[in-house]
Amino acid sequence: METINGAQAMAWGTIEAGVAVVTSYPGSPGTGTFNTLTETANEFGHQTEWCLNERIALDIAAGVSQGGKRALVCLKSVGMNVALDTLMVLNMTGVNAGLVILLGDDPGAWGSQNEQDTRFVAPMSEIPMLEPSTIQEGRQMIKWAFDYSETAETVVIVRITRSFATQEETVPPLSPPSQQPRRVPDREPLRWVAALAKTMTDHARLHQKLEQATTDFSRLPFNRISGDRSNHKGIIATGFAYTKLQEALAGDDSDPQILKLNALYPLPRDLLAQFLGQCQEILILEEVDPYLEDSVKAVGYDIGQTPKIYGKRTGDVNWVGELFRWHIQQSLAKFLPNFKPERVYLEQDWEQEKPFRKSYCAGCPYMEILTFFREEARKLGQNPFLTGDPGCVITAAKLLDAKLCMGSAIGVSSGHQKAEVSERSVAVFGDSAFYHGGLNALIHARTTSANLLTIILDNGGAVTTGCQPTPDQAETGVSISDLVQTCGVDQLWIIEEEDDEACMRAVFHQALSSNEGLYTIILRKKCHPV
Ligand code: SF4
Repeated sequence: METINGAQAMAWGTIEAGVAVVTSYPGSPGTGTFNTLTETANEFGHQTEWCLNERIALDIAAGVSQGGKRALVCLKSVGMNVALDTLMVLNMTGVNAGLVILLGDDPGAWGSQNEQDTRFVAPMSEIPMLEPSTIQEGRQMIKWAFDYSETAETVVIVRITRSFATQEETVPPLSPPSQQPRRVPDREPLRWVAALAKTMTDHARLHQKLEQATTDFSRLPFNRISGDRSNHKGIIATGFAYTKLQEALAGDDSDPQILKLNALYPLPRDLLAQFLGQCQEILILEEVDPYLEDSVKAVGYDIGQTPKIYGKRTGDVNWVGELFRWHIQQSLAKFLPNFKPERVYLEQDWEQEKPFRKSYCAGCPYMEILTFFREEARKLGQNPFLTGDPGCVITAAKLLDAKLCMGSAIGVSSGHQKAEVSERSVAVFGDSAFYHGGLNALIHARTTSANLLTIILDNGGAVTTGCQPTPDQAETGVSISDLVQTCGVDQLWIIEEEDDEACMRAVFHQALSSNEGLYTIILRKKCHPV
C-alpha cells in the first residue's frame, strides 16, 4: 500500500487507463496531476505537454482522440473558460478514443482570482461530469471515465477540488497501464467537421447520448444510498463534500438516509426518484453554488416528488468559500434535531482544515520595480493607469488599477484610451501571460493603432505555478522580443538581468516621455519562488 494525495491518484488512474497524451496549461489544482504524469512519462510511455493556453491543450487532445489514442487534459476552473470555445464544438462532434478533462475547481479561491463553480459547464456543454469523494475512488473514476468516453463517444469531465487534491489516503500500488490498442481513425466524410450541414443532426445525437447517460448514471458504481430507509430525513452530498460529511457526522446516531452522488451531469434520474420518494426533507451539501440544489428540485418537479429541500438557497448551507466540516456541522445541527457528533469542528480551528492559500513571495522584486515606474511617472507629472494580468505581477496589486484575466491587460488598457481618459494606460504582465493571450491583444493593438505602453515582466517561465517553461526556453521556441518586433511596435526596450536600478529608471523615464505610439519594455529578471 502507498500513501498518495488526490492529485497523484488522478494521475495513477490515468496511467492505469492507458493514456497516450496529456496536455495542460499550468494552474492548480490540476498541475499536481500533470506533474506526476510528467515524472512517470518515460516509465509508462505516455507523453505530456505544457501548452500555451487551455484551448490549445484541448485542441491537441481532440486530435489525439480522433487519431485513435487516449488523451487527458488538466485544467483549472478559469482554464475551462479558455477551453470552452473548443469544448462547445467537441460536444457536437464527439470523440473516438477516450478523452477526459480533469477539471480542478477551487472552492474558497485558495489559489485563484475568482471563486467559480465550473459544474455549470456540464449542462451548458451537455457533457457528462463526475466528481469523486475519496482518493481511491478518484483513481477508479478516471479509469471509468476513459472507458465511458469511448463507449458513448463523448468527452467526460472529472471535477476535483483543491482540498481533494491535497487530501492523502493509503491505496494499493500503481498497476501497469492497460494495453489500449489504437482505435482506427474514423475517416467518414464530415465525421469530425463541425459544420452547419450537420449541426442539428449532431445536436440530436448528443441528446440521445445524454438520455443514455441519464440511465447509465443511475447504475454508476460510485453513487450509493445508505442510512436508515425509515428515516424521513435525507442528505445528498456530492464529491469531496461527502467525505467531509462522513467526518462531521461521525459518532452521531441520527442515521439519516444519505445519497452519495458522484454523477453531477446528467443526474441519475431513477436513483434520484428513489431517494426523493423515500425522504420528506432533504439537506444538500455541495461546493460552491447551489447547482445540485436547483437541479434536484427540477428533477423532483418532473417526477412528481417534491420533498422540502434545504441548502444554500434556504440559508441552511454556507454559500461562499470552501464548505468546511464546521459549516457542515452547523447545517446538520439545524437539520437533525438530536445531532451529537463525537468531534465538534469549530470555526476558530478552520486553519487546520484549509488546503493552503497561495502566498506570494516575500520580497518579490516586482513591487519595487513598479514603484520605480510610478516614481518616474510622477516626475513627469503623470499618474498612469496600470492594468495587469494574473501571475507574479499580482504581488504589486496595490500599484495596479485593474486586473482581469490572462491576456486581458492590453485590451483593458486600449479600452481606457477609447474612453478618452486623460492619463496614459499601461499594460503590465508576465511572459507566460503574453504567450497565453497577450500576443493576440498586441496584434490587435498594432492593427488598431493603439497608443499604448506594454511592460512584459519576463521572469523565465510560469513561475507562480511551479516554473513551467515558456516557449522562449525551447530550442525551437519563439522569443518574446522577436514576436514583439514582428508585431511592429514603434520602440522596444530590453532591460537585462544585469541592468541596475538607474538603467531601469532611465528606460521607464524614456518610455513614459514618448509620444503617441505602441511601445514595449521587456524586463528580464529570472526568478524562482522563494
Ligand atoms: S516568483 Fe519571483 S516574481 Fe514571482 S512572485 Fe515570487 S518573487 Fe515575485
